[in-house]
Amino acid sequence: MWRASILTLYPEMFPGPLGVSLSGEALAGGKWALETRNIRDFGQGRHRAVDDTPAGGGPGMVIRADVLAQAIDALGDDGRPRLLMSPRGTPLTQPHVRALAAGEGAVIVCGRFEGVDQRVIEARSLQEVSIGDYVLSGGELGAMVLIDACVRLLPGVMGGETSGEEESFENGLLEYPHYTRPLGFEGRDIPDVLRSGHHRNIAAWRRAQSEALTQARRPDLWEKRVPTRPRNK
Ligand code: SAH
Repeated sequence: MWRASILTLYPEMFPGPLGVSLSGEALAGGKWALETRNIRDFGQGRHRAVDDTPAGGGPGMVIRADVLAQAIDALGDDGRPRLLMSPRGTPLTQPHVRALAAGEGAVIVCGRFEGVDQRVIEARSLQEVSIGDYVLSGGELGAMVLIDACVRLLPGVMGGETSGEEESFENGLLEYPHYTRPLGFEGRDIPDVLRSGHHRNIAAWRRAQSEALTQARRPDLWEKRVPTRPRNK
């Protein structure tokens, strides 16, 4: 079973949003498992201190290497990747999510304060993962984003609703627009082609919409796309 083990100072945040809807039903149904460990249990002294002031000065506090290493070691090493949520990390992408979902799960360290001592990142081979170019106050929401993205890809979780193969990013493009009833909404109709029943025309229309949207909104993705069919120059 796919397992997520979270190291956090705020275990009460979990499962949180992962406990409802698709991911929550899959969790209750035993399609994946979630475990949290409180880093504070490995803290030092009467106050279970986990952080200290930054070497070299500066604002904020840094999570201690020794405390975090003990928390990581207490989980043992079963070969799952060890991730550290971090704004300096590799940006999380759908191919990365797909690779993680295909594995056994992940150990995910959630930072707080200014972050964690560099030496534990190196000594425990933590792979730094970012969920985007902005700064959160802690790694927990990032871990939830990562887990949610993985869990929906696990076998049996999305049911027959969608294979996920046509979704945004799966082919390097953004997804085409969706419509459903009613036919008319405030003077706007569903595009004729979608009501034509002509599957090839519908597929071609959707492809063209995907391409136009990607070019307009995400030129970075458009430049990197891998064409799925031969194209003319
Ligand atoms: N001083 C750090 C930011 C610390 S934010 C810096 O400037 O890089 C506190 C914690 O929130 C981080 O340790 C990390 O675990 C988490 N975090 C913040 N932004 C994140 C992001 N974009 N992606 C993933 N985790 C993030």
